[in-house]
Amino acid sequence: MRKIAIYGKGGVGKSTTTQNTVAGLVDMGRKVMVVGCDSKADSTRLLLGGLHQKIVLDTLRKEEDVNLEDFRKEGWGKTLCVESGGPEPGVGCTGRGVLTSIGLLEQLGAYDEEVRLDYTFYDGLGNVVCGGFVMPIREGKAQEVYIITSGEIMAMYATNNICRSIQKYASIGSIRLGGLICNSRNVDQQDNVIQALAEQLGTQMIYSMPRNNMVQRAEFYSKTVIAYAPECQQAQHYRNLAKAIDQNTNFVIPKSMSNDQLEKLLAKFWLFD
Ligand code: ADP
Ligand code: SF4
Ligand code: MG
Repeated sequence: MRKIAIYGKGGVGKSTTTQNTVAGLVDMGRKVMVVGCDSKADSTRLLLGGLHQKIVLDTLRKEEDVNLEDFRKEGWGKTLCVESGGPEPGVGCTGRGVLTSIGLLEQLGAYDEEVRLDYTFYDGLGNVVCGGFVMPIREGKAQEVYIITSGEIMAMYATNNICRSIQKYASIGSIRLGGLICNSRNVDQQDNVIQALAEQLGTQMIYSMPRNNMVQRAEFYSKTVIAYAPECQQAQHYRNLAKAIDQNTNFVIPKSMSNDQLEKLLAKFWLFD
């Protein structure tokens, strides 16, 4: 089973891209579990047709005898959907809560062979600015990372920072970067700049996902694009990304850049005079 963590700046499109890509993997016959790691608990909404009602950390707080079926729900295409949720507001650490949730999933057999999972996706671990959010990769809970980014400068800064964390823990563990996914914001030269960024970081731009209103329409009906409009172009893009991930063999320890190097790279594309 491949365990994949999706990282990227808040709002860049992690949850949307993850669920739509998971739908693409389901189309290919893969069995997938999605574990939402964001206290907003919105990582499985498009697969479940609405927000998940039983969150791991809430269940743990309220019940003594906990079963997997209390918080693991079956979603579109027989996906398995879990939301870690957050600690009590103002009290605990979200990152630590995620680690508790993953530990419980392990203990209750969610990753056992008889479940026949091909993939587990962890979505919503933020942009790794704190020790809490880096815990799952430090503890070896995922082996593969994809960073969702865009042509917006802050998304690229976050990408470089995330690479710094991966680089640090890759040298002592098995975590590797599988690539950057450009989620379009229709910024000038976005593919060229993300490709150049990927090259500097020692990785690849595995896919460039167009921006399309079909994503919002499907989201309105709490569906992935593949479920809502399977024949549309955007659905095919998500299938292509799923295939690219399924066939990916390019896993690296990234080489993060200094902020100065990053600024110089951006200037190459955006100094017009
Ligand atoms: P994150 O999980 O990184 O915080 P989301 O996945 O919630 O970000 O994305 C934020 C919003 O961006 C979503 O509500 C979605 O409507 C929109 N979005 C994401 N990707 C696309 C896309 N390719 N085309 C159009 N809208 C998109
Ligand atoms: Fe939140 Fe990170 Fe601090 Fe944990 S370490 S409380 S996740 S900011
Ligand atoms: Mg999200």
